[in-house]
Amino acid sequence: MKALVKTAQGFGNLEMQDKQVPQPGADQVKIEVKYAGICGSDIHTYEGHYKVGVPVTLGHEFSGEVVEVGEGVTEFQVGDRVTSETTFYICGECAYCKSGDYNLCNHRKGLGTQQDGGFAKYLIARKESVHKLPENVDYQSAAMTEPLACTHHAVEKTEINKGDVVVVIGPGPIGLLTAQVVKSRGATVIITGLTNDKVRLDKAKELGIDYAVNTQEEDLKELVNSLTDGYGADVVFECSGAVPAAKQALDLLRKKGQYGQVGLFAQPEISFDLEKIIQKEIRVVGSRSQKSADWKPSLELMNNGSVNAKSLVTHEYTIEDWDTAYQAIKSGEAIKVLLTPLD
Ligand SMILES: [Zn+2]
Ligand SMILES: [Zn+2]
Repeated sequence: MKALVKTAQGFGNLEMQDKQVPQPGADQVKIEVKYAGICGSDIHTYEGHYKVGVPVTLGHEFSGEVVEVGEGVTEFQVGDRVTSETTFYICGECAYCKSGDYNLCNHRKGLGTQQDGGFAKYLIARKESVHKLPENVDYQSAAMTEPLACTHHAVEKTEINKGDVVVVIGPGPIGLLTAQVVKSRGATVIITGLTNDKVRLDKAKELGIDYAVNTQEEDLKELVNSLTDGYGADVVFECSGAVPAAKQALDLLRKKGQYGQVGLFAQPEISFDLEKIIQKEIRVVGSRSQKSADWKPSLELMNNGSVNAKSLVTHEYTIEDWDTAYQAIKSGEAIKVLLTPLD
């Protein structure tokens, strides 16, 4: 089968390869991939900012159909519509594994990063990670369960009350999903972007996000202040991974506000005004990936219509057309790009 493989660290080094069709071992499920999403982290991986266990087939956001099950699998049958958590291997013994925080296990191996993922016709997942799709969740939406779970994870790390004013910086897929999750909790949501993000800001409006602000044209701080009697935002989620955005977030927050870092930075060390964190008693929280407990709620958010993931899909290509897909993302014309496998 054809697979899109990151062969070595550094910029590029992404190749179409012919690979053996994998067979499921005990307690494993073989999935025929229907759609696999390109994640911001795949872009970082492609550009060499983010290291994965090479060589590896990328693609950690996917949906598909069960085509074979290994010994000991009674939970799934051939023909089931599924998606899978990215967790492929965990030690099962550390404190994090015991509390279900698999995303923090030092020995964790993830699909599409350390273990062959969804940019191929077939992949193998462990049965504990696989989820059946609810009735109203189609394959395209389901391919976005993983990013949605990441945003659910971030939102769960903060406390959001009905009527809070929440700013989401960065209107990419993660920002647009975060905004919808936050909205489902009864907050007033402002999503922000730049002139280059026009398509994404328009999408936010279409999705019913309260305010979609181009910060190069409108005064964001003035809007936040007008909505909060001058106090500032209750929560800010930084979803862009841009250094100026992180700084701006501290400025927008009220005293005792909460700052959630969701976006990945191209450089790990950035300057961050700790003085503001002290003076305003800001609570800062990082959010890494997702964990098991985020998946069912995420599927339910799509099933009940609180989150429209499918409408974020602007482009679909086969795995062979990576370069075109990459350009569509870099140019800002695409929101979410899904890849489909080849035989
Ligand atoms: Zn992802
Ligand atoms: Zn562990």
